Amino acid sequence: DTALKPADSGYLTRRLVEVGQDVVITMDDCGTRNGIKKEAVFQGEEKVVSLADNIVGRVARDNIVDPITDEIIVRENELITMEKAKQIEDMFPSIIVRSPLTCEAPHGICAKCYGADLSMGKMVELGTAVGIIAAQSIGEPGTQLTLRTFHIGGTAALGRRDPVVRARRAGTVKFEGLDLVELTPEHAERLRITFEEKDKYLVVSRRGAVILLDDRGREIERYPVQQAAHLKVEEGDRVRVRQALFSRNIHATPLLTERDGMVRFVDFVVDETVKVERDQRTGQVSIRIIEHRGDKQPQVEVIQAVRAKHAGFLVNKSATLTERGSEQHVEAEGEVEIVDEKGKVLETVTVPAGYRLTVHAAGSKDKADGRISLPPGDDLSQEERLKKLLSLRLNEVGIVAYQSSIVYNLPEKSVISAQPFEELLKGMEIAKTPREIAGTQDITGGLPRVQELFEARTPKDKAEIAEISGTVEIGALRNKKREIIIHAEGGPELDRSYRVPQGRRLLVQTGDRVEAGDPLTDGPIDPKDLLRVSGPERLQNYLLEEIQSVYRSQNVRINDKHIEIIIRQMFSKVIVQDPGDTELLPNQEVFRNHIAEINARAAAEGRHTATFLPTLKGIMKQGVNAESFISAASFQETSKVLTNAAIAGKFDPLRGLKENVIVGHIIPAGTGFSRFLEGAVEYKGEPVECPVEDEEDFAEVGAAG
Ligand SMILES: [Zn+2]
Repeated sequence: DTALKPADSGYLTRRLVEVGQDVVITMDDCGTRNGIKKEAVFQGEEKVVSLADNIVGRVARDNIVDPITDEIIVRENELITMEKAKQIEDMFPSIIVRSPLTCEAPHGICAKCYGADLSMGKMVELGTAVGIIAAQSIGEPGTQLTLRTFHIGGTAALGRRDPVVRARRAGTVKFEGLDLVELTPEHAERLRITFEEKDKYLVVSRRGAVILLDDRGREIERYPVQQAAHLKVEEGDRVRVRQALFSRNIHATPLLTERDGMVRFVDFVVDETVKVERDQRTGQVSIRIIEHRGDKQPQVEVIQAVRAKHAGFLVNKSATLTERGSEQHVEAEGEVEIVDEKGKVLETVTVPAGYRLTVHAAGSKDKADGRISLPPGDDLSQEERLKKLLSLRLNEVGIVAYQSSIVYNLPEKSVISAQPFEELLKGMEIAKTPREIAGTQDITGGLPRVQELFEARTPKDKAEIAEISGTVEIGALRNKKREIIIHAEGGPELDRSYRVPQGRRLLVQTGDRVEAGDPLTDGPIDPKDLLRVSGPERLQNYLLEEIQSVYRSQNVRINDKHIEIIIRQMFSKVIVQDPGDTELLPNQEVFRNHIAEINARAAAEGRHTATFLPTLKGIMKQGVNAESFISAASFQETSKVLTNAAIAGKFDPLRGLKENVIVGHIIPAGTGFSRFLEGAVEYKGEPVECPVEDEEDFAEVGAAG
C-alpha cells in the first residue's frame, strides 16, 4: 500500500509526544496494590517473547518465592534484574508486576510502577520525562514499520519452526480442553494420516493446551496445542527435559471434523468460489477455494444422513412431519418408503426425530412428489465426477433425511481433502490451509493499524464480539445474513443473537464456548465495543497486544512499558455517571485524577461522591491532554481552545513540559524537576563536623582546594 508515507510516522511521533509530554516520574511510590499480569507471548504455538524478557526492569508486586526451597527470589516492590527474571521464568508461567497502567500517582507516574530506566539499567530517577521517552520509543521505529511494509512478504513469519514440540522442563503432564482420538497404526490408517513414532492421540479440538505440573501440582509450563497435533504423551506421564510432547504440521493448518458424519459442501460453485484442478506432478485432483467477491461463503457441513439404496419417489408412512418454511421436519420417528413410478415399494427407511427430509414426502403413493436419485457412476473422469457431485443436492445422491451437526467456514486458498458427500470419521481431515497465508494476516496493518489503535478509531469491517459468555450456535442464513446465537448459562432469556453478513469469516463454530469479549468474526475489534463488554482492563491488554503484534511482526522490539504509558493517557478521562453531591454534571468528561480529588473532598465533608465510567480517548483527541489549555492550544485549533479556556475561566497548573516551555519556565523534568529546584545550598555559620582522622591530611586537601 503506497499510502503509507514516512511522514505519517513522524506525525505519529508528534501526537505521541503531545499526549505523553506531561508524564514525568513524580514520586517514588504511589502505594498501589495493583499491577498487571505478565507472561510469555505466543503466536500460535511459537513463543515470541519470553517471560524473562517481559518482566526484566519491572518491579514485582508481590514477594516471589521459590516453590521448592521457599526462598524469596524477589521481594515485593523490588526491581527484577535479568538474573532474577531468568530464575522466575524457570518457576512460574506468569507473575504480577507494577505497571504505569495501574499507577495511582495523582500526576505523572511513580518510580515503582515504572521500574528501571532502560537507558541506565537501574531504577528510574525522579523527574525523568518517561512520557517523552515512551513517545520516541514507539514513534521512531514507526519509520521502519512504514518502509518494511513494502519489502517483506508474507512467508517471513514461517522462520525456523520445529515440527516437534519438546518439554522445556521436567514435570507431570496434564491436558486442558483437549478433545482427542486415540491413535494406533490401524486407526491412523483409517483416518488417512501417517502414524508417527510414539503417537498416542490425535488432537481434534481447535484449542487446548498441554500443561506441565511440578511436584506440588503447580503449573510450570504451558504449551498451546492446535488441531491435528499428534500427542506423544499421556495425561499423568512424568516427562524429562527435551522429551517430545507433540508434533504438528508446520506447513499447513489442517481442519479436521470433530464428529463422525457425512460432509456436505455449501456454496461450492465451480469457477466462482472453487476450482477443481489436477496437480501436474502427482496427478491428484483437488478442490481449492478461490478468492471471490460476492456474498457466497464456502462452508463444509458435517451431517448425519439417512441413505436410500434405490432411486424413486418418497412417500411418508408413519413419521410425524411438520412443515417449516419450505422444509419438512421429522417431529416423531417413523418410516418413509421409496416407491417407483407405479407405486411399488422399493424399500422402507426409518427417519429419526430431529431430522429433516431432503425432498417433500407425499402422504400417499398416488401423490408422491419428492424424487430420490443415486450418485453418478464411476464412468466419469475424476475431475468431471467432482464437478458433477458439487452441483448435486442431497436427494440427488440418495439421501432421504439429514441433521446438521457442525458447520465449518473455509478460508480462501484452502485445499479440500474430503470428497463431496463422503462419510468421515471424527479426526479425518476436511481441508488444509497453507501456513504462509495465515502468516500474512499479521503483517497487513503496519503503521495504519498502529495509528488506528492509538487513535481508538472504530475499524473498518470491525469484528462482531460476544457480549455474553456462553455456547455458540450457528443459525440459519436469512436475507444474506447468518445468525449467530450465544446461549447463556443463565437461561434462554439471556441469549444474544447477531446477524453477520454472509461473506464474513466466522471464528466460531456451533458448540464452541466463548467468553464475553471474544471475537465471533474475523476483522479487528472496535475498542469501544470491548470497553463496553469487558471493561478497561481487557481493553488495555488488547491494545497493548495488538500494537506489539504489529511491531513484532516486523522484528521491532519495544518495551511494553512505553506503550502502557500511552495507553494510560488514553484512559485518563472518565465520564460522570451520578454526580452525587459534587459540583460535577452527569455525562461530564473529567480527568481521572480530578474526580479523585473531588471525591476525596466530598467524602471528607460527608457528602455523596460521584460515580463514573471509564472512557477511551484516541491520542488525536484534544481532550486527552487538555488538562493544560496552553499545551492544547499549541497543538491544534488554537483560537478555539483559548476562547473556550477564557470563557470557562480555566486554570493551568503548568505541570506538563510543553506549557512550561511556552511560558518560559524551567522544564519540570530531569534536573528541572521541582524537588531538585526546592533544594538550596545554605550557609549554616557553624563549622561542619568532619569525619577525618588525620588533621594534617585535611589541611593538605584544604590547601590544595
Ligand atoms: Zn505508581
